[in-house]
Amino acid sequence: MDLMKHSASRSHCTGSCQRCLQQETNPNLPTASVIICFHDEAWSTLLRTVHSVLDTSPKGFLKEIILVDDLSKQGYLKSSLSEYISKLVGVKLIRSNKRLGVIRCRMLGAARATGDVVVFMDSHCECHKGWLEPLLDRLASDRSRIVSPVIDVIDWKMFQYYHSVDLQRGVFDWKLDFHWEPLAEHEKKVRQSPISPIRSPAVPGVVVAVDRHYFQNTGGYDSDMTLWGAENLELSIKAWLCGGSVEILPCSRVGHVYRTGNPYNFPDQEAVERNKIRIAETWLDSFKDLFYKQDRMAFLISQAEKPNCSERVQLQKRLGCKRFQWFISNVFPELQPLQHRPRFSGKLYNTGIGFCAEYRSQQGAAGGCVELSPCSDKINQQFEYNSMKEICFGSAQQLCFDVGHEKVVLQNCTKETENSSQHWDIKENGMIVHILSGKCIEATKTEMCLRTCNMEANLMWQFDHSHNVDER
Ligand code: UDP
Ligand code: MN
Repeated sequence: MDLMKHSASRSHCTGSCQRCLQQETNPNLPTASVIICFHDEAWSTLLRTVHSVLDTSPKGFLKEIILVDDLSKQGYLKSSLSEYISKLVGVKLIRSNKRLGVIRCRMLGAARATGDVVVFMDSHCECHKGWLEPLLDRLASDRSRIVSPVIDVIDWKMFQYYHSVDLQRGVFDWKLDFHWEPLAEHEKKVRQSPISPIRSPAVPGVVVAVDRHYFQNTGGYDSDMTLWGAENLELSIKAWLCGGSVEILPCSRVGHVYRTGNPYNFPDQEAVERNKIRIAETWLDSFKDLFYKQDRMAFLISQAEKPNCSERVQLQKRLGCKRFQWFISNVFPELQPLQHRPRFSGKLYNTGIGFCAEYRSQQGAAGGCVELSPCSDKINQQFEYNSMKEICFGSAQQLCFDVGHEKVVLQNCTKETENSSQHWDIKENGMIVHILSGKCIEATKTEMCLRTCNMEANLMWQFDHSHNVDER
């Protein structure tokens, strides 16, 4: 089998690809262990993957390839494979005597790896010249990154190769399904060069590179996830929330044979759901309700099984990870559900005394009174009112208007949906009604107090901006 010629005839390197090859390679890159898990993979695709890694990776940077057999049943993957692999320098084959699923299988490979970086790769891929160096380079300059190549599509029937041309980032939706999404025009404009890294909410599962120690020290994959699916999202969300970052690198390119449907037989679709449930219960905070609304099957399973994610939650505490709202606000604003988007925003102005609401508590801590001050464009006068009827401080949606001793205070947003003391109605005439008590906010000299509603000017408020939520 002449795999080398085959892959050479497949590279159509023009435009930004040429630019990538012209990049100077740092001679001091970290070394990589490429970990390839497989379960009943076809002989040709498995070996094409192995040979393409060997053929395209500079010797000095490739520490080893570790093949992990996840209890395959096919006869040709037994002694014939062992024999074939034993002749390849730098390729190890380990066998699991239990079916681990790709997630734990990759963890097993990582535990045996000795390179500085681990690259997890599906068992039906084709790497292109220059695929490895950009990944290592990005990890060398920041060990807390999670990076992936651009993934081209290889048709599973004809093995036709389709180069992806658009610049795309990895995203997901509220069903926790991964997608590719072309960069928006405004994002393309601010890029330094067409080959700069693409900051992404998520990496795909197919190929992902991460510093080995960083991976192990930040809890690796969730080892209670079974079989296959959604582990790439868990890895990505964890990275973002716990101090790391996620990128797709346009100069690194790997082809992947996509198949249609789930090969691991129905009932197993439930395994993917269980993995998603673990993400929701560990990382989504109150946003998990949105996921369960979109994915009824997951909802039913979670009700019946009450999954235990306490280890993952402990990890989250140990690493001091941020809340999911931070991820939405800072990494992936497009995920913001409509009902959380502001209907009114900006300064909150009182018609009677002519002052604006201001929050002066130290470092934005909870519990303090909202005060009234001369209006200014300082950030501590920025508030948002959303369709969940919350009035939040800034756009982080962490602190919400609440009531304490008949005064308006800012408390951590509870996101309760019923009987919440954090729900407010903004009337057309400018009154702001506290729904639980039916009272209105009145401006006294320096504070906001609750009072029986009336039409006095001190009870009339205006936000700077109003938004038509439906049109966004
Ligand atoms: N895999 C595995 N054990 C499993 C399921 C999958 O080792 O129980 C391997 C599979 O051979 C492949 C990788 O995990 O190399 C990812 O699976 P697959 O390609 O089916 O996922 P997809 O690319 O369709 O998301
Ligand atoms: Mn695959």
